[in-house]
Amino acid sequence: MTIIKRILLSLIFKSGIYHFFHFLSRHKITILYAHSIIDADTSTSWKPLRSQHIAQELAFTLDVLKEKYTFISLSTALKILQKEHEPISNALVITLDDGYLNNLTIGAPIFAHFGISPTIFIATEHSQHNRPFWFDRLDYALQQMTDENFHTSIQGETFVFDCQSRKKLQQSYAAFRRKIKACFKSDVAMREYLNKVCQQIEKKTGKALSQIIADDPYATLANWQQLKSAEKNLGFEIGSHTLNHARLGLVDNHTVSDELSKSKIELENKLAIHCDSFCYPDNSYNGYAVETASRYYKSALTTDIGLNALNCNLMTLKRLNLPTGINPLKILYAISALRMTLFF
Ligand SMILES: [Zn+2]
Repeated sequence: MTIIKRILLSLIFKSGIYHFFHFLSRHKITILYAHSIIDADTSTSWKPLRSQHIAQELAFTLDVLKEKYTFISLSTALKILQKEHEPISNALVITLDDGYLNNLTIGAPIFAHFGISPTIFIATEHSQHNRPFWFDRLDYALQQMTDENFHTSIQGETFVFDCQSRKKLQQSYAAFRRKIKACFKSDVAMREYLNKVCQQIEKKTGKALSQIIADDPYATLANWQQLKSAEKNLGFEIGSHTLNHARLGLVDNHTVSDELSKSKIELENKLAIHCDSFCYPDNSYNGYAVETASRYYKSALTTDIGLNALNCNLMTLKRLNLPTGINPLKILYAISALRMTLFF
């Protein structure tokens, strides 16, 4: 952070502006999300290109947040938003997307320390088979490349992965993700394409994430037994994240219904729970997806940026990325009502 930014941040807190907006928004509910949580001391055979939440920083962040917020569960937040529960000032919910096992092994003890009941969102077909998500599978495959680059064609256009260094690969992987999201208007076509790209690289290197996923600290997913235990013993709430991590805004109506209804049935049958909450994979949704989700769930979460007021739409709840780092002011500002008011 530059010195100017540091001074500005300090002024925002010293002047009382932060506290003023925090007080004004005290009845809004903040919902944060995270994905994989990893212990910095874990020795691993690879490291994903995407940034991970580090356990040590997560603990620091929650320690900072507890001074300004009250941690509540998603189910309590819903009761508040539906006016079935009296408001709790500066309430904050933690959610975890995708169902990584490390959310339970590394994350759960930290959450328990702060009395947090997080909600974990499961893509049931992935959890059932411990099938890696394409973003983890491709990430691993690319890192096994010994060639300096890898060419692929995205709908007739050549894309080159620069594998010369981790930094260059990180940049081209991020560019690739943006590119395919812009190019493919069908989620099924995108997943088929990605499957082919992964197979191509895996054939070339002879290595695949599926070979090591069972013991992989990053990509392995919690199984039904582990999820049940987390629900029963660790205070976790469990929601659906579709069957196949499908982008509901980019599939046909029949698939939208299937992804929403069958994942709920699967979770309820396998875990003996009521599954009332849903999270849109990749923040992809449209009017039909929202309407259909409301038939099966009491709430659905997006990654649209913002806080949630009492009269908000429960089927498009807003969330913010769980901030991490070692600067308390930066952490508080990242999710602050002041920032939401100024920039969003
Ligand atoms: Zn997801």
